[in-house]
Amino acid sequence: MSPFQLNRSTYRGRFAPSPTGPLHFGSLVSAVGSYLQARKQNGQWLLRIDDIDPPREQKGAVKHIIKTLDHYGFEWDEEILYQSQRYDFYQNALEQLVDKNHCFSCQCSRKNIQYHVEKLDANPHIYPGTCRNRPAKNSSTDAIRIKSIHQHIRFKDLLQGDQCVGLADEIGDFIIRRSDGLYAYQLATTVDDAEQAITEVVRGSDLLSSTPHQYYLQQLLGYSHPSYLHLPLVINIEGEKLSKQTFAKAIEPEDATTNLTLALQFLGQNPDSELSKASTEDIWLWAIEHWQVHSIPPHSHSMIESPHG
Ligand code: GLU
Repeated sequence: MSPFQLNRSTYRGRFAPSPTGPLHFGSLVSAVGSYLQARKQNGQWLLRIDDIDPPREQKGAVKHIIKTLDHYGFEWDEEILYQSQRYDFYQNALEQLVDKNHCFSCQCSRKNIQYHVEKLDANPHIYPGTCRNRPAKNSSTDAIRIKSIHQHIRFKDLLQGDQCVGLADEIGDFIIRRSDGLYAYQLATTVDDAEQAITEVVRGSDLLSSTPHQYYLQQLLGYSHPSYLHLPLVINIEGEKLSKQTFAKAIEPEDATTNLTLALQFLGQNPDSELSKASTEDIWLWAIEHWQVHSIPPHSHSMIESPHG
């Protein structure tokens, strides 16, 4: 056994971009945060491509993401996992949930849901329960929803603190397979995080609100719960999250050292400004050595200096 294997901890983290566009500075920050958390603890870091939603995919995005991460000096353990090749796993989990009577088939259109919400004068963000008594038909083209129950999901986020969300009151019956037959993000992520034995999920805080869904699915499927750390989001001058929708610029391979240093700055790691003149290798050595979770500002904020795109 090599000394590296001997020292290896059981920590397993991951970065799981959706190829809806090229890598931008916001996604770089998530990649840097999850990578440093894993490397600081001598753990493994996996790369997963969340390509389960073909209509939202952008041609060439997978290639750009992988190439950019590689140029920026990220090193992933194991082979890259593609969600598009894992439908059998999601189907299997879905069948388990159906067999245990946790699901129902839903035929509601958006309009229909709105109609029932208004009629019941109910919370517009919660499914009004119209189809709750329909059995879940595996072969149908209906959506499949999880029946939520009166339970509070409680977990401690390593940066955002204690979380407590009422499943029935704040989330409601949520979709795990869409009416177009595609598996929902909540199901695919829960299955893969468990299958890949991920011990800690580090990602942007836009996904904090998805964690209770995933926590509940882990409970129903008998998986253990990873720990969670939700990073601050990078916001633009208009106060919007950097994303494809807000036309965030792609980051380019040749700007690696500048953008890595800016990402470290954003995450409160206080790198010396000279660091951007170092090689990517030296930047990573410095960053792993100095990585401090408690220095990360928990709230989303904008950049003082614009990242290079
Ligand atoms: N694929 C998701 C995204 O790019 C992230 C999934 C996750 O980290 O759970 O927003």
